[in-house]
Amino acid sequence: MINHEIVFIGAGASALMAAARYKNRDIALLESNEKVAKKIKISGGGRCNITNKNLSFSNYAGDGDFIKKVLDSFDQKDLLNYLKKRGLIPVLQKKDQYFCKRGSFELIELLLKEISGVDIYTKRKVLSVEKERGSFIITTQKEKFRSKKLVVASGGVSFKTLGAGDIAYKIAHDFGHSVISPSAALVGLSLQKEQFWMKDLSGISLGVKIKVGDKEIKDDLLFAHRGITGPSVLNASLYWEKGQIEIDFVPHKKIDEKFFKTKKEFVLALGAPKRFVKAFFASIGLKNRALCDLSESEKELFKKIKSYTFAPAGNFGFSKAEVTKGGVCTNEIDADTMMSKKCDGLYFLGECLNVTGELGGYNIQWAFSTAFKLKI
Ligand SMILES: Cc1cc2nc3c(=O)[nH]c(=O)nc-3n(C[C@H](O)[C@H](O)[C@H](O)COP(=O)(O)OP(=O)(O)OC[C@H]3O[C@@H](n4cnc5c(N)ncnc54)[C@H](O)[C@@H]3O)c2cc1C
Repeated sequence: MINHEIVFIGAGASALMAAARYKNRDIALLESNEKVAKKIKISGGGRCNITNKNLSFSNYAGDGDFIKKVLDSFDQKDLLNYLKKRGLIPVLQKKDQYFCKRGSFELIELLLKEISGVDIYTKRKVLSVEKERGSFIITTQKEKFRSKKLVVASGGVSFKTLGAGDIAYKIAHDFGHSVISPSAALVGLSLQKEQFWMKDLSGISLGVKIKVGDKEIKDDLLFAHRGITGPSVLNASLYWEKGQIEIDFVPHKKIDEKFFKTKKEFVLALGAPKRFVKAFFASIGLKNRALCDLSESEKELFKKIKSYTFAPAGNFGFSKAEVTKGGVCTNEIDADTMMSKKCDGLYFLGECLNVTGELGGYNIQWAFSTAFKLKI
């Protein structure tokens, strides 16, 4: 049995940042992988999109009040200052996203420097946790650990190849917490037969507007062999709850009576990729020709390109999902300390909570904001 005052499960984004703050205490990080921070490493295409210029609770799925409380005490400006003080100045890209300039390794090296001296036990997959006489007994593949405090920072279940697992939900459940069933998010959407025409467009990308629930998302859509993906679809997947979505494939075009007065053909009038335009109208039974030749009923059909409604079949699954939606219910967590309201000394950080951010650096920011809220 190895004893430490505080044990963290996981050595990813939230655990490393929190450990840096408590490194003068007797802490240990238990990580199932052979290396720490594997998800940070591949994040943002290897350059980790750390945070976003525009940060608000409305960029997240979850309890707005809880999210706001956590973000307010360590927001994107605080994070950028923290990094700057330690020599890392992320670069702004795509208008509002901050990335590591050279690679995610810059962020990982910074965090590792901050926690130098802390005990990190790699290849220690946590299998179960019990509480005995006021202490947590943590069973790993190799040995058992005992601690007064336990911080669960083991992330979500997407990308199992990077060490993801459901231990956080198991622990939460065992200690009396409610857990919202996990589902894949920030992931491509698959298609029903009626939309299979989209599969032939694999590789084509265009700017769209997607309506899903009460959210409107304007960004690029990419057609793929398995369905649709790209930033607009990944964000839509976060808010999609098995039902219809609506796509405006030409958000830059106003389609009114004046639009139909031209002799231009469809494929030239819309400013969208020709192969897409042809396939779209073929799928709704309209042949490419001069716009002024359309009958009134055909004009109505044509307008579907601005409000194409359909129900995706599902999504590409956890193996392709950047994050996991669902998780430990936040109403049972104290937003001032991140401690469980059900069990003294038990804490939850990061993605294992029922809070999921949009694409754009919101999930790493969340992991770090929760780490700063941790009060042990
Ligand atoms: C491909 C990809 C790209 C992404 N890009 C971005 C991006 O650019 N920007 C952004 O904001 N977000 C991005 N994300 C999401 C982001 O990486 C995560 O939301 C974030 O890392 C979550 O931090 P965390 O500390 O909660 O968990 P993690 O960083 O996932 O850390 C959890 C750690 O716990 C370990 N663990 C799990 N189970 C056990 C166990 N039983 N015992 C011991 N250890 C265990 C895991 O191995 C892992 O190291 C991306 C995700 C993926 C998959």
